[in-house]
Amino acid sequence: MISTAVVSTECPTCGAPLDFDDEARAIRCSHCRSQLLVTGRRQVLTYEISARTTEAEARSVVRFSLSADRHAARVRHGSLYLVPYYRLTAEEITWRSGDSEQQRRRNVEEVAAFLGVATTAGRGPADLADGLDEGGPTFASRVIERNFVARDTGVVPHSLGVRPTALQLRLFDRGEAREGTVLVPADLTPREAQERALGIAGDDTGIRERLRVVLQIVYFPFWMMPIADRGVERVAVIDAVTGTIVRDDVEPAEVAKLSDGRPRRVRTLGFRPLACPNCGWDLPFRPDDLLFQCSSCERGWLARGDRLEPVVFSVAASAVEAACHLPVWKLGADEDGAAVFAPAFRCRRLKALFDLGARLTRQAAPIARTDEIPKGLAGCALDQEDARALARFIAAGISQEAARGAVRPELPTTVDAVAAELVWLPFSSDGYALRESTTGAPIPRRLLDL
Ligand SMILES: [Zn+2]
Ligand SMILES: [Zn+2]
Repeated sequence: MISTAVVSTECPTCGAPLDFDDEARAIRCSHCRSQLLVTGRRQVLTYEISARTTEAEARSVVRFSLSADRHAARVRHGSLYLVPYYRLTAEEITWRSGDSEQQRRRNVEEVAAFLGVATTAGRGPADLADGLDEGGPTFASRVIERNFVARDTGVVPHSLGVRPTALQLRLFDRGEAREGTVLVPADLTPREAQERALGIAGDDTGIRERLRVVLQIVYFPFWMMPIADRGVERVAVIDAVTGTIVRDDVEPAEVAKLSDGRPRRVRTLGFRPLACPNCGWDLPFRPDDLLFQCSSCERGWLARGDRLEPVVFSVAASAVEAACHLPVWKLGADEDGAAVFAPAFRCRRLKALFDLGARLTRQAAPIARTDEIPKGLAGCALDQEDARALARFIAAGISQEAARGAVRPELPTTVDAVAAELVWLPFSSDGYALRESTTGAPIPRRLLDL
């Protein structure tokens, strides 16, 4: 899983400190018990990291670091610069032939080393890799996590690198009094940043999709400390979180250039009460879920941006008693022939979701729906956009099987425009696994958080 950052803010209801995982969709204040929806999903949100070193500390760090031959140098008062970095996280799924895998990893490492980009996730093992069938392509998934400075400059490190502690993010606040602080504008647009972050691993072998892509802007603090030595001025750059010297020989003109350009529009996450927009009833508190089902009026709501949007969902009828119901996106309407299925529940292995989706899609059976909505439907963790990405991937795998001679249903040529419907399917239980009732496809229980 993606290593997360922690957001530190204050409860909008009672003002108590509030820390939460930056992926949480709903939070509960431990002080006043307010339940809040975190808004801003799918938007580029801006955060900042607070300085932990004062100007006086930064000055003494520089003074003590001066070598003996610069004993006459004077360290002048410095300024705090907030420098924007883009941070992107995503889960990537690929089909590729086995040979290209090693080559691809070498390429990624080479390019990353050249750019000085953190490849923590890239270096880690792909979370799994196994062949669909003999001679077929290989399914692999991995987590991508990248960050890089949002403008062309050599004054500060290209990336924030690998930090031993979780990133402590605060909501960016431009209104705060910031005397002596320089806000450095970003040059790269979010679109350029996303292309750069995802393009680094680019190779054209196989099929690739990315799920849960999150792009953030994180302002990182650096002290710029001028050093005057025999009529020559240089600037020392101090990481204001760790208090360490990053560079001590920067031309003042280079630092001045950091102020060029215009600040971009800033968007931060927000909160709204976790209540049904239709009837006002409290929605169930499930921090990882995207879909909130009102237990009073039974409507479903999907969190998107800063709104809760209504979602039509249905439940498939079951011949036998179901142990539970899990959500699946069905891409393609009943009358258009075969649909592509993208499982949408939270599961520790994307491969298990993929396998179930592929089996449901190959089976191409119509779904009988029931009006009886069981209590406690399992949560939905995949929004429509990600469901379409997973469905494109499943459809591509199935058309490759067809190309190798297997009998497969005729799928929609593109799943981007077809109707999307969220259906809860019944699963039976055999102890270790839940089994989808029509295909018998197993999902090991240990992969689920139910
Ligand atoms: Zn509170
Ligand atoms: Zn309601």
